[in-house]
Amino acid sequence: MVNYLDLQAQYHGIKDEIQEALNRVLDSSQYVLGKEVASFEEDFASYCQVEHCVAVNSGTSALHLALLAAGIGQGDEVITVPNTFVATVAAILYTGATPVLVDINPESLNIDVTKIENAITDRTKAILPVHLFGQTADMDPILTLAKKYDLFMIEDAAQAHGAEYKNRRAGSIGDFGCFSFYPGKNLGAYGEGGALVTNNQEFAHKARVLRDWGAEEKYHHKYPGYNYRMDGFQGAVLGVKLRYLEKWIEARRACANKYNHLLKEIGIKTPIELTHNRHVYHIYAIRVSNRDDLQKYLKENSIYTGIHYPIPVHLQPAYANMGYKEGDFPVAEAIAKELLSLPLYAELPEEDIESVVNAINEFQN
Ligand SMILES: *Cc1c(COP(=O)(O)O)cnc(C)c1O
Repeated sequence: MVNYLDLQAQYHGIKDEIQEALNRVLDSSQYVLGKEVASFEEDFASYCQVEHCVAVNSGTSALHLALLAAGIGQGDEVITVPNTFVATVAAILYTGATPVLVDINPESLNIDVTKIENAITDRTKAILPVHLFGQTADMDPILTLAKKYDLFMIEDAAQAHGAEYKNRRAGSIGDFGCFSFYPGKNLGAYGEGGALVTNNQEFAHKARVLRDWGAEEKYHHKYPGYNYRMDGFQGAVLGVKLRYLEKWIEARRACANKYNHLLKEIGIKTPIELTHNRHVYHIYAIRVSNRDDLQKYLKENSIYTGIHYPIPVHLQPAYANMGYKEGDFPVAEAIAKELLSLPLYAELPEEDIESVVNAINEFQN
């Protein structure tokens, strides 16, 4: 059997440190925010090569707060992509702003930078690229447009902790970087979690205040805020796990290399890592025309895969009122039918990679 993901394997390697960290929270009773969260914020800011980190209760909250800190709301437009987890688009809608979608580049699977300018209007306030699967979008052309039209740039780095674009860390390139620590993400909490990073002191302060009911002083509410605080336990877990992140990323990259090598030999289209990028392989997705049959065959052979994502956001019933229709984003729609995410995690044994590739080869023959 090859599982898609094995969170137990990772836990076994760090069990003692995790339990010590959880005990520190119990001994201090700092269950919400507190010292463990503050110390993680400091470490994660430095890991992302930025000045400020605001820890929150999910990646969705991080996106929502980044948009609010930028002053985005009703009447504004924010440019993003249709091939993402719905949270990217939902966070824009939470503010009252309108998501404007742009199709993706078929190689990188990230926003097609040649199509952005056409989507910019007088109401556009921000570009929100998603670093899909752990590879950053092509940031320099996006930064040029953001400067030209005076737009904010908010990175959805929920899948891209530690990814790099021309030696710059994901999250440090735009005005804001938004991360998720959902358990299955490359840096995962033991529950929900997220963070926003920025170099702007004022934005960091605004986000910090909004995550805690908009109060700069307890019970004195300056802004209508939210309960988006991170738990003490999650801060403690993340503080331990951050120390291993680089090692885990290198292990993921080694798995991806092994897959690339073996899959090329059997003629499968592997993910494209652009030369100036450091891809962190949150997801390793191959592109095949008979995807559903292949997934079924692998499952019959006890190999578990994923699909990210089977339906682009603009074709989801929940978001039908955005007014898009089938055919609006041909590249995103095509890949939704063809991508298959193979098992990949830092501890994945080499033999398992070989079994997966052998099974794909058998299916083809
Ligand atoms: C996981 C994810 C989110 C949302 O993060 P949560 O912590 O689940 O709220 C947002 N965007 C992308 C691209 C994601 O993968």
